[in-house]
Amino acid sequence: MIEALSLSELPASAQALRPAVRAFLDETLAGRPTDRLARSWMGFDADFSRALAQRGWVGMTLPTEYGGGGKDAFHRFVLAEELLCRGAPVSAHWIADRQSGPLILKYGTAAQKQFFLPKIAAAEAFFCIGMSEPQSGSDLAGLRTRATRSADGWVLKGQKLWTTNAHKAHYMIALVRTSGAPEDRHQGLSQLVVDLSLPGITIRTIGDLTGDAHFNEVFFDDVQLPHDALVGDDGAGWAQVTAELAFERSGPERIYGSMVLFDAWLAHLRASSADELDLALAGRLLAHLAPLREMSLALTALLARSQSPVIEAALVKDLGTELEQAMPTLIADALAASPGRERPEMLLRTLAYVLQVCPSFSLRGGTREILRGVIARGLGLR
Ligand SMILES: Cc1cc2nc3c(=O)[nH]c(=O)nc-3n(C[C@H](O)[C@H](O)[C@H](O)COP(=O)(O)OP(=O)(O)OC[C@H]3O[C@@H](n4cnc5c(N)ncnc54)[C@H](O)[C@@H]3O)c2cc1C
Repeated sequence: MIEALSLSELPASAQALRPAVRAFLDETLAGRPTDRLARSWMGFDADFSRALAQRGWVGMTLPTEYGGGGKDAFHRFVLAEELLCRGAPVSAHWIADRQSGPLILKYGTAAQKQFFLPKIAAAEAFFCIGMSEPQSGSDLAGLRTRATRSADGWVLKGQKLWTTNAHKAHYMIALVRTSGAPEDRHQGLSQLVVDLSLPGITIRTIGDLTGDAHFNEVFFDDVQLPHDALVGDDGAGWAQVTAELAFERSGPERIYGSMVLFDAWLAHLRASSADELDLALAGRLLAHLAPLREMSLALTALLARSQSPVIEAALVKDLGTELEQAMPTLIADALAASPGRERPEMLLRTLAYVLQVCPSFSLRGGTREILRGVIARGLGLR
């Protein structure tokens, strides 16, 4: 599949990674049903993450002095592409690998880097993102969770919402108010790393439409944090979180969310003699995917040059999630248009899962409307 999408060449050293990853996935994922594989970066499997880490495939872009792979963003792109297209269960380490590690590397103290980065690269420390709150999703700058300085460090009070994997992660990087009031918006926000095993933290899981439980409400009731919980500068949280969102939005996970389903449908077509309409649809979807992959690669090139492609990432995420959401609907229509043909149960189960979960693709990581606002501002249109 990936070969069919490749319009331009990746660096040879990054491409060289592919066969080993494929061989590992062939062995590890053998026999897993496609409705399970379709969960991919929603699939939490700590043992799988540790097996990847043993091969040097977690924290690949972190410097070797911190236990990372010392590789560039293209290597991570190849790895991510292979993992996502195969439906590997990468959720346990994904957030730490994609954004918490790079954030700590960029803004953390020497001690924070020494403490957290080797654990991330070994898949021993899993992270979650504490941004959204009950009244502050899109309007993130209006958040109300507050950390107040005390003799021993910080006292944290408030609530986060929709926090993916908080119930299984070791740490949260939380965006909180450390001075001023919600009306001060971008001023007075800071990022703190929160050890989720501390007293005063209550985590309640929320079920989603598919029956899975991956996100949570997290309550902080006067949680005592040490001084060195602060990541970066006091009051600089908004600028830091904006840079973090570029990591969050720029990866190939924003184009490959329905890939396991697409592959399963193509396999079904191959086995059941596709008609012309099916072939036209398959070609149309591939023709959309190929330039999206190019754009995702172009973002990777910016990350490899240590740039922070905030607007470009919003654009690719918006276009990518549109295709990810169109795929299950178009495939469902195509299957319904040929009622006489046998439809394998596992394909239908995979389709049902992706149809149910895909509305969230354009919510998580910033909604479609918010991204379009970012793009419009970047183009000077608002
Ligand atoms: C699967 C999933 C996982 C998530 N994981 C995390 C996580 O790990 N950590 C985390 O912090 N958050 C997480 N979120 C939360 C996510 O970031 C928020 O749901 C998202 O930012 C939207 O916020 P909201 O739900 O409060 O909706 P609202 O902000 O209330 O938005 C509701 C609707 O109004 C629209 N809207 C809002 N403001 C505007 C505007 N100014 N202009 C035009 N339209 C507007 C939105 O686009 C949306 O359609 C997750 C969400 C999902 C679905």
